[in-house]
Amino acid sequence: MSFSNLGLSEKVVSAVAAAGYKNPTPIQEQAIPHVLARRDVLGIAQTGTGKTAAFTLPMLTLLEQGRPRARMPRTLILEPTRELAAQVEESFAKYGANHKLNVALLIGGVSFDDQDFKLTRGVDVLIATPGRLLDHFERGRLLLTGVELLVIDEADRMLDMGFIPDIERICKLVPFTRQTLFFTATMPPEIRRITEQFLHNPMRVEVARPATTVATTTQLIVKSGREPHEKRDTLRRLIRSADGLKNAIIFCNRKRDVATLFRSLLRHGFSVQALHGDMDQPARMAALEQFRKGEVTLLVASDVAARGLDIPDVSHIYNFDVPHHPDDYVHRIGRTGRAGRSGTAIMIVAGATDAKAVAAIEKLIGQPIPAMERPAGQPTVQRHTPPQQRVSERLHGHHHAGRKSPTTRNEDPRPRRAPPPAPRPRGEDSDAPHLPAFLLRPVKV
Ligand code: AMP
Repeated sequence: MSFSNLGLSEKVVSAVAAAGYKNPTPIQEQAIPHVLARRDVLGIAQTGTGKTAAFTLPMLTLLEQGRPRARMPRTLILEPTRELAAQVEESFAKYGANHKLNVALLIGGVSFDDQDFKLTRGVDVLIATPGRLLDHFERGRLLLTGVELLVIDEADRMLDMGFIPDIERICKLVPFTRQTLFFTATMPPEIRRITEQFLHNPMRVEVARPATTVATTTQLIVKSGREPHEKRDTLRRLIRSADGLKNAIIFCNRKRDVATLFRSLLRHGFSVQALHGDMDQPARMAALEQFRKGEVTLLVASDVAARGLDIPDVSHIYNFDVPHHPDDYVHRIGRTGRAGRSGTAIMIVAGATDAKAVAAIEKLIGQPIPAMERPAGQPTVQRHTPPQQRVSERLHGHHHAGRKSPTTRNEDPRPRRAPPPAPRPRGEDSDAPHLPAFLLRPVKV
């Protein structure tokens, strides 16, 4: 099956070819013809299956007919988080490269006035988080009576985040005759009820989870002391001694800890960004973009901030904290080992409470998580091998001009006693910044 057999317009087919996609994914193959035939669709699929294109491509084709009117969007896409909304907007930019459609994003943390201005020009595609959409509606700046097609994406996440009452309200504000596309990864009873209430004779399309994490991801646990500084120390050792680390997401349970860990890693010279709910919107978007483009290697994140993000090909996941809910573990490690690629997920375990949570995770995934052979609390062999020293030496020459690192001393051909302890960055956690190039912050020259 190819994209040209699905009934999509020529403009869309050529944009898809330009995006480099050869064949539709199963959800695209199954959903697109029904969307084009104006059927309601219930898509059971999660991020990573290509579901965004499964609705954006046929929407672009349908939108080629007709024009928008001021303040009356023609289509509406609801997303649970600002980041997901922004990703969908990017998809419209990519797949709609051959169209002249007005796409507007209504998300929190961004000025009302700019969003309002876009609405006045007339919008073909409105992508919104439920709260901000209702704010605009209540101010009388938006009419929903022109919506021909409504997409509710990541519905089960909307449920987790308490958005279902908003969704129900919005569904009642758009015309009864609209077409509805509804996507969810799971079908808890509350979601089933909503689909029964708001979808009309939907085509049910279900795809398997993308390559399961369990099959392609090496999972390990590492014991650590309980104190936060001990955990940070363990984490740094793990990162520095990791095999094949290209990029990594580090998960913390609390947003406060995300911020602390981020600052600590930064002080230790790592190339790192943070993503948590207290950051303002532009900062979140910038952090994510830098990580996606590979401009930073590490991303410290909380569960809610990282939900559903499309970050392809993450080589390592570090669970700085054992998640309280076993489901979160599966979501977290689902960000590596995608599409048959191998990945590594390492969890730092400290204390008896953590051990209980690990047991619950092992029960859920149906397998024990082995302990790492070499305790991460010990200095690793790799840290002192000559090649890494050379890389480190070269970089520290740039980065820490004037700061004498023990590596420099080890370069001396004459054997010496053990190197003296590393300088402590601003009195914080111990150990020296022996970082290979990609882990370091980029140098501005
Ligand atoms: P999604 O499930 O919508 O988050 O998409 C996951 C990833 O798959 C995104 O990075 C898309 O760019 C990519 N993708 C979507 N459709 C295709 C396709 N037909 N072939 C290859 N990659 C695709």
